[in-house]
Amino acid sequence: MLLEKLKTKFLHGINFKLSVCAVLLAIVCLCLPLVLAGCGGTAEAKNCYDISAVFDDESKTLVCTQEVKYFNTSENKLNEICFFLYANTFNEGKKAVTNAYFDRAFPSGEESYGGIEISSAKVGGKDAEFSVSETGNILSVKLFDGLFPDESTEIELEYVVRLANIRHRLGYGNSTINFGNFFPIACVYEDGFVKNDFAQNGDPFYSEVSNFEVEITYPSKFILASSGEQTEVSSKKNMGSEQNKTTLCQAENVRDFCFVLSEKFEKISASAGDVEVNYYFYDDENAQEHLLTSVKAIETFSELFGQYPYSQISVVKSDFCFGGMEYPNLVLIADDLADAETFDYVIVHELAHQWWYGLVGNNEFTNAWVDEGLTEYSTALFYEQNAEYGLDYDVIMQNATDTYRNFVKIYANIFGKVDESMNRNLLQYKTEPEYVNCTYTKGMLLFDNIRSMMSDRKFFKCLKAYFNEYEYKNSSAAALVESFCKTSHINLQPLFSAWIEGKVKIN
Ligand SMILES: [Zn+2]
Repeated sequence: MLLEKLKTKFLHGINFKLSVCAVLLAIVCLCLPLVLAGCGGTAEAKNCYDISAVFDDESKTLVCTQEVKYFNTSENKLNEICFFLYANTFNEGKKAVTNAYFDRAFPSGEESYGGIEISSAKVGGKDAEFSVSETGNILSVKLFDGLFPDESTEIELEYVVRLANIRHRLGYGNSTINFGNFFPIACVYEDGFVKNDFAQNGDPFYSEVSNFEVEITYPSKFILASSGEQTEVSSKKNMGSEQNKTTLCQAENVRDFCFVLSEKFEKISASAGDVEVNYYFYDDENAQEHLLTSVKAIETFSELFGQYPYSQISVVKSDFCFGGMEYPNLVLIADDLADAETFDYVIVHELAHQWWYGLVGNNEFTNAWVDEGLTEYSTALFYEQNAEYGLDYDVIMQNATDTYRNFVKIYANIFGKVDESMNRNLLQYKTEPEYVNCTYTKGMLLFDNIRSMMSDRKFFKCLKAYFNEYEYKNSSAAALVESFCKTSHINLQPLFSAWIEGKVKIN
């Protein structure tokens, strides 16, 4: 994800200093009370999701049937499978956004709610016992006889997703209907199932690379942007009063699936090597430039880290209140960004996430800096490699340093003591500025510092080796540090630790 305030500060540098003070103070005042208070065929052990989804535009509901072929890759016998139900973050009574984002999030000016109702669960074709946690974030499905290591089972879920009128990952605004994180996704199993909480700041996601077959039925008036490759199954099928069509989306080796519908979409495409780069947009006189930036980003990061391995990437302008959001093969770019330069910056950031989050995963709830820090640093690398954009790498680092210093100064004035640690979960950051500065800004400065410890040749070898080692897998803070130490033959552990634990003073 990329919050607009963040990239604005890098773009506008010095002028931003005064305004950031005002924004930080405003956010602190506003937020603090709240914050305090298809599968067959593959022999690989990879989960497969086969989802059939029918969207009703009038009621803004998505009726789904979902079959999951789940592989037990752990060393333990499992008696249940747990799924993360992000859709319930929009339940009435839960605050999906902080007050600071209220106006950008709710197009009607009024709060709106949504959620997911699970109506049935079957295991191996038989009705199974299931429960949803009190906070609504976790669905547990009981297995009849347990599941031994290396065994697989089939779970069938039926559910309805109700969309809130909110410009968010999941919800609808005036131009697009976003279906990010709409379905129950299996929690990663470590010592047990990792059950992330909801969070207003940051992306509370963690999942395994899987295969997806998603068949979406929707009114024909909409254009569909999605992860994976699309095949039209049928068009102009009458369902109720509307003509519907059905599209099958197949996405392999991805850790999530997202789609967006809009009546307003225009689509332009270009190639980045073998990759089809699509830009879905409305009201954009700079559409060709944004498509070109997308192509350059895919080419630059493929060169720097490792080839983007999928056939397509879709950059999707959308109703979204947080600047941008990453999904495999698809990124959301907010339609309310300040200018074309900012829009490009967000495109680059979100596309860098295809490598850091998409291909190399990590628990974004517990260690957000691992993907956000590296993604933000990669964005600076893009500008270093593409001088025609006129954003100097050193200036980006200097602006980040100034911004971070400002944050520490302001927070020291307000709170006395500033927690600068990065190894916190999303709920442990008291405010959004604290989260943004400690994960994005400081994360970027951390990688700049690591680079200064070695030759550029060695540093880029570290990035490539890390990508290569964890492509299609999940990494962690410890794994990243270990990989960098191994490739560089330098003991970087103390330096990483000093940054992560908040002991490095940024001057
Ligand atoms: Zn991000």
